[in-house]
Amino acid sequence: MSMLADRLKQEIAAQGPMPLDVFWREAMTAADGGYYAGGAPIGAGGDFTTAPEVSQVFGELAGLWLVDVWVNAGRPPEFTLMELGPGRGQLMADALRAAAVEPEFLESARLVLVEASAPMREMQAERLAQYGPEWRDDWESALAAEQDAPLFLVANEFLDALPIKQFLKTDGLWRERLVGLDAMGAFKFMLGDIVQPPNPGSAVDLDAAPEGAVLEHGEERNLLASSVARRLSEYDGAALFFDYGYAKPQTGATLQALAAGRPSDPLSAPGSADITSHVSFGPFLSAAEIAGARGWGPVEQGVLLLGLGAEQRAAQLVKNAEPAAAEQLMAGLRRLLHPQEMGRQFKAAALLPAVYPPPTGFDY
Ligand code: SAH
Repeated sequence: MSMLADRLKQEIAAQGPMPLDVFWREAMTAADGGYYAGGAPIGAGGDFTTAPEVSQVFGELAGLWLVDVWVNAGRPPEFTLMELGPGRGQLMADALRAAAVEPEFLESARLVLVEASAPMREMQAERLAQYGPEWRDDWESALAAEQDAPLFLVANEFLDALPIKQFLKTDGLWRERLVGLDAMGAFKFMLGDIVQPPNPGSAVDLDAAPEGAVLEHGEERNLLASSVARRLSEYDGAALFFDYGYAKPQTGATLQALAAGRPSDPLSAPGSADITSHVSFGPFLSAAEIAGARGWGPVEQGVLLLGLGAEQRAAQLVKNAEPAAAEQLMAGLRRLLHPQEMGRQFKAAALLPAVYPPPTGFDY
């Protein structure tokens, strides 16, 4: 058994079952064996592949989107360009290469990367050295530190990694799901006291939910939305989030764990698998609006990328490519856009100060 699993078991034995979000946070970020302390899970041979790894067009279009909102904000001469969870640095490398169409954008940007994983930071340092990035461990300290300049932010598959709580309806009442231990000392789901779960929005009727319904609550995700929104309202800027998720609040468990590309048990071996859940964009965008910004979307990733010119960009690349590379480019594009691949399940949402019209791609 890993040191981390051992420590969590001791904590549960001493203090009782822990909320799912607390267990999840430990499993991912603990220094003594958390998932991010280990190797590099993304890309070929890793636990999962992400859109920027599938096609350079993804990062390029994200970069051009950021340049576009920066131009619309009046080209602020100094700003923070922040990425949350940059992974192998591919998105930002492609974004900044594309952003070179506006040299002033590159000159004005101070690049801040929010990354919990040391091995990931090393890869980012390699790919992005020429832009002189700075790193922060977590989004709270990053937003607290970069206070006095406009913020242009991008994040792909970051929100899904932030821990959530789950509530389960049994005997007509809601209880929080906790992680405890079974008689053999293995981790297992248990139930806490009867509680009233946080209101997920009017699309879900908590009283009418059937026996066994699960409600997921992404408090940290919503807090992130309101912190970014406050910052944008005060200092200007824009934020673009991509993630798999759903627009309308709903019940249903979406918690999942992946190890070496295969579904695995989220509880059995903390630190060995990537734990994520789908993002509920409704509460995320509401949190931003309550904090004074305007939330746009979510739109399907395929629809947004098409709107931003994915096909034209791919056609340009194909023109100059060898046949094998051209085929690979088109396959990558298809994977990003096609509704049955990443095009529909993944969504994009944008946050901007309330005074701005809809940004490019969200003006439908
Ligand atoms: N955006 C990248 C990687 C997505 S995976 C891509 O699209 O390829 C999630 C990334 O977020 C990883 O780099 C992971 O190490 C980082 N991460 C996850 N949770 C984090 C947290 N709470 N704080 C900081 N970084 C985190």
